[in-house]
Amino acid sequence: MKKYLIIGSGFSGAVIAEQLSKDPENHITVVDDRDHIGGNCYTERDTETNVMVHKYGPHIFNTDNKEVWDYIQNFCEMVPFINRVKSVYKGNVYSMPINLHTINQFFNKAMKPEEAKVFIESVAKNEIDEPQNFEEQAMKFIGKDLYKAFFYGYTKKQWGCEPTELPASILKRLPVRFNYNDNYYANPYQGIPKDGYTAIFEKMLASSNIEVKLNTKFDASWDLSEFEHVFYSGPIDAFFDFKYGRLSYRTVYFEKSVAEGDYQGNPVINYADPEVPYTRVHEHKHFTPWEQHEKTTYFTEYSKETEGNDIPYYPKRLKDDMEKLSLYEDEVKKLDKISFVGRLATYRYMDMHHVIGEALDLIKKIN
Ligand code: UDP
Repeated sequence: MKKYLIIGSGFSGAVIAEQLSKDPENHITVVDDRDHIGGNCYTERDTETNVMVHKYGPHIFNTDNKEVWDYIQNFCEMVPFINRVKSVYKGNVYSMPINLHTINQFFNKAMKPEEAKVFIESVAKNEIDEPQNFEEQAMKFIGKDLYKAFFYGYTKKQWGCEPTELPASILKRLPVRFNYNDNYYANPYQGIPKDGYTAIFEKMLASSNIEVKLNTKFDASWDLSEFEHVFYSGPIDAFFDFKYGRLSYRTVYFEKSVAEGDYQGNPVINYADPEVPYTRVHEHKHFTPWEQHEKTTYFTEYSKETEGNDIPYYPKRLKDDMEKLSLYEDEVKKLDKISFVGRLATYRYMDMHHVIGEALDLIKKIN
């Protein structure tokens, strides 16, 4: 019998456990310090409204990786879902990501696609060749006015720093379109699991050779020698007891409300004005339009620096962080038979589909 230890039951841990469980000779232990599986993808029915709630914020599955898309559907029925986000700025509602509707509404014009391209080129900073940060990327893509309206305030609230300190890659997550396509994502496969995400994790971890231990906090003093291989998906700095200092993360927290009917008419509405203290409001019954609910529950999202026992969400990857990260990565290289997997252990801004894809690839390499 080969014994494996997996620390964390989010997508990294669950996919690895599921793949390893196919060999009946393997015995897999999955530990998680929370009282539930699924990490930040956890969903549950709200007791007041019966709405399926994404407890740690909205998760819309989207990918361009056919293998990942086919894989996830072994564990759920994916209902096609297109995320259409709105953004409120100075009392008006606009369409996000930036598309022809946003541009025309913002500049009070009725341009056709080619006209809008020429117009945006005339206001964009084309002389920036290789954008070095978020702000430069935005100035090159859309110019100052759209950047200041929809990105500057929101990004300062979301990340707690100047956009000039943030990597350009964060903005590249969002498309800019010169047509009326308001699909938030550019990936071809998009959906929401019919029975929520927790049901996916339950299926992935159901095999009799997988043992799940909740409320079990891993620490570096554990003896790992009995395991064939260990997979760690917690924060990389915590694994090394923060010996080179803490990496910075943003965390988010939510204020829950319950109302009758339809509160905001859309799943997600962003708030771009810096004076509004929150970043967005999500109303979860709109993520399951195939369900009927008389009541509704919505969450007002705030962002702050991660401290104490806060759950780390977004790796900030500032200059100072990247220096510390490289010291931690040198330590990882010295270790044998342990893999660091997922968003927290590799300190990268990964989506669900990236995490699943990398976990599947890793197992192919190890086996
Ligand atoms: N962003 C923004 N305004 C918006 C939406 C996004 O400034 O209305 C910026 C913000 O910095 C955010 C980044 O674009 O962190 C990436 O957005 P995405 O929706 O991918 O963030 P996530 O869903 O991961 O929070």
